Amino acid sequence: MPKYIFVTGGVLSGVGKGVTTASIAMLLQSMGYNVTAIKIDPYINVDAGTMNPYAHGEVFVTDDGGETDLDIGHYERFLGKNLSKKNNITTGQVFLSVITKERKGEYLGQTVQIIPHVTNEIKSLIREVVKEDNVDIALIEIGGTVGDIESLPFLEAVRQMRLEEGISNTFFVHVALTPTLKATGEQKTKPVQHSVQELRRIGIQPDMIVVRCEKPLVDEARRKIALYSNVPIEYVISNHDVEIIYEVPLILHEQGVPKLIAQKLELDYREPDLSKWIDFVNRLKKAKIDITIAMIGKYTKLRDSYLSIIEALKHASATTGVKPHLRWIESSELEDLDIKEIGKQIADVDAAIILPGFGKRGAEGKIKAIKYLRENDIPTFGICFGFQLMVIEFARNVIGLKDANSVELDPSTHQPVVDLLPSQRNIGFLGGTMRLGARAIKLLKGSYVYKAYGKDIIIERHRHRYTVNMKYIDLFESCGFRISGISEDKDGDVVEFMELVSNKFFIGTQAHPEFRSKPLDPSPIFVFFLETVMNYKGRQS
Ligand code: GLN
Repeated sequence: MPKYIFVTGGVLSGVGKGVTTASIAMLLQSMGYNVTAIKIDPYINVDAGTMNPYAHGEVFVTDDGGETDLDIGHYERFLGKNLSKKNNITTGQVFLSVITKERKGEYLGQTVQIIPHVTNEIKSLIREVVKEDNVDIALIEIGGTVGDIESLPFLEAVRQMRLEEGISNTFFVHVALTPTLKATGEQKTKPVQHSVQELRRIGIQPDMIVVRCEKPLVDEARRKIALYSNVPIEYVISNHDVEIIYEVPLILHEQGVPKLIAQKLELDYREPDLSKWIDFVNRLKKAKIDITIAMIGKYTKLRDSYLSIIEALKHASATTGVKPHLRWIESSELEDLDIKEIGKQIADVDAAIILPGFGKRGAEGKIKAIKYLRENDIPTFGICFGFQLMVIEFARNVIGLKDANSVELDPSTHQPVVDLLPSQRNIGFLGGTMRLGARAIKLLKGSYVYKAYGKDIIIERHRHRYTVNMKYIDLFESCGFRISGISEDKDGDVVEFMELVSNKFFIGTQAHPEFRSKPLDPSPIFVFFLETVMNYKGRQS
């Protein structure tokens, strides 16, 4: 019988429920169980692909081309495995499926209602993931905060699951915030008490309360929370702030979380093997070679917009011992500056990442910055849109194609060095129709990228509609900006990597290598990037 662990949230969203879920999942997996994690998002969008990253942070892409919530990224990184788009369930998907069934006549004669039709659909989507992956334990994180109207059908569905699956096969974790009063330093438990009351009103009695707090939870607060929430005191867990999120499993383990869960779920307890994880955390903390990276993008005010890139840099940091300091640069603010003024902002950086994105705003600012970086041979890594802008900059300023542009930015450009992918020409719907997910990429022997990955064929994920126009390739190559990675699919040959031979690291990729990077299996190109910067810096000083 599979075991289900449901994770709900109280008081506020954004307190780290995703990381808590991922951490518990990872601890149970380290006991030798087959574990998966599912994220439920109570919004009506069918997937996260159509949402602005300012609203929900980055859109995380899975191997099978799902445009998912960023928590799926946390799960993949903590579990060290690739998940499916099915691991992200939204209200939109549930209703789309119920309404489609209704139109097909599958509920003929019935009044279609939230209970039981919508709740049945939710339960079957959860069970499908569990069955398909043949998992022992599934964690199901319900997005939002208890008390939201949107999440009610999901809470009702999981309440029913306790009854159907049995008490020893289901476990409820409630994650809530305990703020500390500045004036007295006192930890206030009332918000947690209220959110548990709200949960019980819906018929769910949590088995464990994970308390997010600044400093470790004091005994007094722990006692109060246990009493008011009706859980044994050892099931009140302190999830206090730590230096890096990868330490969260360690503090949960210290408080016996896997053992406590195993007891209730009647699982054999085996001591989790955390040695590799602890080694990773130590290496990350010990990384001391300071470098500054300019992070040039247009969603820089919400760092979650680029979460996987930040995490991929951490994984590479633990491997190389390089400690990157990120200087966020808003590209739209560069647009009116001349090259000298841009230089003032980035002359002292050791490297730059040109971030992914969409649309016109800020694009010309990025192009100006790229010119400066290229001319001054500052290691520059362009990801997806960032790569396309490197291509445009090179076409304009080196090859001399003054009108060079992407069709995305100027549909009537006479020199479309970045053009729409053939498969995108007749697309009507914008949801889920980009070139998405994992593709095999063939690397050029002897190239920088080949050196980074050390093999002929690699796999990376994608999310784009536009691509480097093959018509201009000879011009680029004759000027030393060569293709070093290519993939073949229904779009024909797609340029996946380009690199400027004469520079230390002027490499762009159409792919998103950040999405496959894991703490214990860092992205080779991110590692190579930091190594190159380190070697270069070492030689200078
Ligand atoms: N806007 C670009 C495209 O659609 C790049 C997308 C991205 O950076 N993810 O091709």
